[in-house]
This record gives sequence, structure tokens and C-alpha cells, in this order.
Amino acid sequence: MSGSLYIVATPIGNLSDISERAIEVLKQCDLIAAEDTRHSKNLLWRFNIKTKVKAYHEHNESQLTSQLIQQIIDGKFIALISDAGTPLINDPGYKLVTAAYYNRIKVIPIPGPSAVITALSASGLPTNRFIFEGYLSAKKEARKKFLQQLISESRTLVFYEAPHRILETIQDMQDVFGSERRVTIARELTKKHEQIVLDSLSAVNKKLINEEIKIKGEFVVIVEGAQEKSVSDVEVLRVNQILSEKLSPKDAAGLTSKITGKKKNEVYQMALKASKK
Ligand code: SAM
Repeated sequence: MSGSLYIVATPIGNLSDISERAIEVLKQCDLIAAEDTRHSKNLLWRFNIKTKVKAYHEHNESQLTSQLIQQIIDGKFIALISDAGTPLINDPGYKLVTAAYYNRIKVIPIPGPSAVITALSASGLPTNRFIFEGYLSAKKEARKKFLQQLISESRTLVFYEAPHRILETIQDMQDVFGSERRVTIARELTKKHEQIVLDSLSAVNKKLINEEIKIKGEFVVIVEGAQEKSVSDVEVLRVNQILSEKLSPKDAAGLTSKITGKKKNEVYQMALKASKK
């Protein structure tokens, strides 16, 4: 009978954030595949986990995946961990998990910390709909172009950023999204120097320049989505009325729908009702 693949989330700073279930799985599995064995030593030592550890990172992912899969097919239980947080969230593991499904291997997630969710939960920005973009490009031109594509995105935007690029990134965001768009900077989450600041992009930019927000450690940047503009019924009717001077009622309603985002049938009914008044 084949074993299983466990995807185990580990702390993003504060080691006490590990779950009981994570410790149990890491103790009882046959092998831990870790992004960086030296980095994980501290965590494993702290919880007296003596399981064998093997390095599994982006450089050996392709060649090691089939070996690990074969071991699971042979009955072994393998746990995947990354340096911090949830594996596969901007970390290695995608190839292994996909290969597990192709080989009918059971994949068992052990949930726990992830910087994206931790930051969102304390961001003070809308969290019901969000998009996670990971790291932006290190190249200024590509980064700005990418941000420009997100100008009218109404969902909250979440990014990971490195300390040496945080100032440039916030400046680019201010140029693209405008000074008043709100942003939350979540730095060193769960660690001693944790800092979470919600303010406008221009205010956060100033706080970074005057070091009120320290440019050190790990960062999550959360940007408020664009405000959705809703067109009033009066505006819809006005557009439809102008277009009706040149077009048939059906064509006018169709074009009004495209311009305003209101459903074609609704525009048609509204216009019909207005004409009877
Ligand atoms: N797998 C991890 C997770 O679930 O969050 C993310 C790994 S990614 C390679 C590392 C990035 O996550 C950092 O550069 C930073 O942007 C963010 N990050 C990780 N730990 C953090 C922390 N304690 N505070 C703020 N950001 C953190």
C-alpha cells in the first residue's frame, strides 16, 4: 500500500505558532523534504523532531520529485516543509503535489501560518475578495507595466516584497494608483519587531523615507482595490436617449449596455418605462 504526502505549514517567525498536528506529522513521517535543511534544523531541534531530512528546493525539484514519489509508492510517508509558512505559497512543491495526484497518492495538507493570510487578517482593508500576486518584477519598467494592468482591479491586492526594493515599489505604486490609495505594510509578522501600518500610499512612502517604517526584514504589501464606479439610472437613461436619436431602440440599448455595464434587457425596459411617463 502506498504512503502519503503531507504538506506541512510551519511558523513565519514565532516558533510557537506551529500546530500540534504539524509536530505530530513531522515526528511520525519517514522523511521530511525541506527547502533548506540548515534553516529547518532550528525548528526541528526546538520540537525534538528526529526524522530524517532531505533538501528539496527549486534547483533539485525536477530530479528529486520522481525519487520522492517512488518512495511514497513504496509505502513511505513524506512531509514537505518550506523555510517558513505554507509550502507552495511562493515556495517549492508544485511539481511534487501535481506528480502525487498523477500517481494516485493521497495529499494531506496540514494548515498553519502563511504571511499573505496573516497580513490580510490584520490589514484593515477589505478581505472578502483579494488577489495575491507574490513578488513584483525586480525591473522597474516591467514592474510599472504590471501595476498599470491592475489600475482598475477592485479586489484588494497582496504582494510580497524584499526590503531592498520596498521603497521603489511603494513609489511606483503611488505613481500608478495615486497618492490617496490606501496601503498596509506588514513587516516582520509574528516576530519581535512586527510592524503593521495602514495609511495612504503617499503617507507610507514618507514613513519609509523617514524610517518611521523600518526598511528591514520581511514585508507584505496590501493595496486597497480601485473603487467600483456605479452608473446611476439617470445616467444610463441619458446615454440611451442620446444613442436612440441615431439608432433603433434595440441597438441603442445594446450600446448603452456596453458603455454603462447595465444589462441590455434592463436598459430596454427602463427606456420603455420612461417613454410611457
Ligand atoms: N511560504 C511563505 C508563506 O506561506 O507566506 C512565503 C515564502 S516567500 C519565499 C517569502 C516572503 O514571504 C518574504 O519575502 C515576505 O515577503 C513574506 N514573509 C514571510 N514571512 C514573513 C513575515 N514574518 N512577515 C512579513 N512577511 C513575511
